[in-house]
Amino acid sequence: MKITQSFIPTLREDPGDAVIASHRLMFRAGMLRKLANGLFAYLPLGLRSFRKVEQILREEMDAIGSLEIKPTVVVPGELWKESGRWESMGESLLRVKNRLGNDFVVSPTAEEAFSALVRDELSSYRQLPLSLYQINTKYRDEIRPRYGVMRGREFVMKDAYSFHTDDASLDEHYDAMGRAYRRIFKRCGLTVIPVRADSGAMGGSGSEEFMVESEIGDNTLILCGACAYAANVEKASCKKDYSVPASPGAEAAPAIEKIDTPAVRTIEELCAFLKTGADRFIKTLIYRAANVELDLSGAPGCSGLERRRPAPDAPEVYGEAFFAVLIRGDLDVNEVKLAAALKAAEVTLAQDSDVERLTGAPLGFAGPVGLGSVPVIADETVTALCDAVTGALEKDLHYRHVVYGRDFTPWLVADLRTVKAGDLCPACGGKLYEKRGNELGHIFKLGYKYTRSMGLSYLDENGKSRVPTMGCYGIGVDRTLASVIEEHHDDSGIVWPVTIAPYHVIIIPIKYEGAVKDAADALAGELENLGVETLLDDRDERPGVKFNDADLTGIPFRVVVGGRELSGDVPRVEVKSRAEKNGRLVELSLAAEALSSQVLAEMARINS
Ligand code: ATP
Ligand code: MG
Repeated sequence: MKITQSFIPTLREDPGDAVIASHRLMFRAGMLRKLANGLFAYLPLGLRSFRKVEQILREEMDAIGSLEIKPTVVVPGELWKESGRWESMGESLLRVKNRLGNDFVVSPTAEEAFSALVRDELSSYRQLPLSLYQINTKYRDEIRPRYGVMRGREFVMKDAYSFHTDDASLDEHYDAMGRAYRRIFKRCGLTVIPVRADSGAMGGSGSEEFMVESEIGDNTLILCGACAYAANVEKASCKKDYSVPASPGAEAAPAIEKIDTPAVRTIEELCAFLKTGADRFIKTLIYRAANVELDLSGAPGCSGLERRRPAPDAPEVYGEAFFAVLIRGDLDVNEVKLAAALKAAEVTLAQDSDVERLTGAPLGFAGPVGLGSVPVIADETVTALCDAVTGALEKDLHYRHVVYGRDFTPWLVADLRTVKAGDLCPACGGKLYEKRGNELGHIFKLGYKYTRSMGLSYLDENGKSRVPTMGCYGIGVDRTLASVIEEHHDDSGIVWPVTIAPYHVIIIPIKYEGAVKDAADALAGELENLGVETLLDDRDERPGVKFNDADLTGIPFRVVVGGRELSGDVPRVEVKSRAEKNGRLVELSLAAEALSSQVLAEMARINS
């Protein structure tokens, strides 16, 4: 392809709003342009690399027996009402109406559409397992699209959904997906950190996220310095270590005592007022939980709550319930763990008015002693506190010398803390540390969540109706492509791995005329015949401009044609890989073969 016949508008300057390398370089290399906030257009060069990521995804999905289909992007709102996500997805779901006033959704993900398609065809256990995928447009009305295509509003995702008769079959496919994902990222030249995204508290390995390390990453990864433990902080657990320094034993603790704490509300203010550390306080947070599956019969304040079944086959849930959550003052509640402990679809901090109603006190004075209006859930660390301070459910009053089990007994104890750097590894006891990461892919055992709510069933060997179990598996194409650039660039531009590069070779004629033009054209033709994707810089530009653009666009191999080397007895050209500083001279007649072998060798190295 000749550059003058393509459309590669490279830029000298960085776009003003670009803060990360991939965003900057995709614009400057003429790969990408912005249509509106969070909406981007891929130009020819960008699209070529984009298609290569898609092709790797396609090959690896096909290799594990997942079948490609092409559903629509706009899907009936009815399906989302069946699953309950029409409501629960909130503002990020783009809802539209057609001319008849019917509701539709612009797919942010496709559990509903795939479940509905399979529901209509599934009748017998013989049709399972079934794994289907698409590589298709998604739309999420992100509040703050940023970092270019890393977090856009419209993007493309490879999403696969699998349906199974039993856990063993789901486990097998889930493991095959995990292996395919590792191969996909390797073929893209990416170093990923697979992290557990399942709750340690719940056991099993129901979910794994594939992260790349990134300063601007939205995720905190918890990693062990001594073993392979790696988890998203949302799900990370740590070794139990409840020792609280300077805490006397329960027997030694004086009787509970109410103390005046005028206008002291926050933990920091209390620490200063009482001159002790935050690890001696019990923080009490009131949470509202939605769709709670946990049985609350007999729990304080729950006698009037009604249970309902969101779908015919689904378990009964309480629509809404409030809880007091206790945690040591120096720690934070992990809401994902809390939701798991309550078997709740969602947990959020209660509104101020609910806190005041349920605790009978102004904000800042909640505490477990004498609290009967809600079930009390304590983090495990609270059980080790034998001389603690808590709110006294009255304005400007706290309790001190509070002893767990003597002065209050929670309704439920669970691991609810957010793990931080310095905590101990749950697997080996080593020291944990933190890294920022960006999520490129996610595999997830969904179980019966959608198959139940959307009414999927089949007849088993004995003619009995059963509900299939399900898995889902997603990778963002745009974010993967941007991450490749994040990992492979230098001060001059992109340094593509050959597997994702828009072209393998760029030919730069010093001046595109006469014998130089003839040699460059012939070499381009030879390379194309050998299957080497070649870009020919036929522009009427100074060599320096062409070299700079070649570095910027990051094509893996550069061939310079012209000058004394070309006009010598044995015509030669200079071949240089983008990653190397210096090139080497190669006889023109051997150049195409030599480049072809180099490209193939590099492909093999990355794919091995
Ligand atoms: P995030 O936490 O980053 O919003 P998510 O957990 O909501 O992502 P999933 O629903 O698991 O994302 O989607 C699967 C993949 O789709 C992600 O791993 C990511 O690669 C991609 N993706 C999700 N949201 C976006 C977005 N706004 N822009 C680009 N890619 C995205
Ligand atoms: Mg995810």
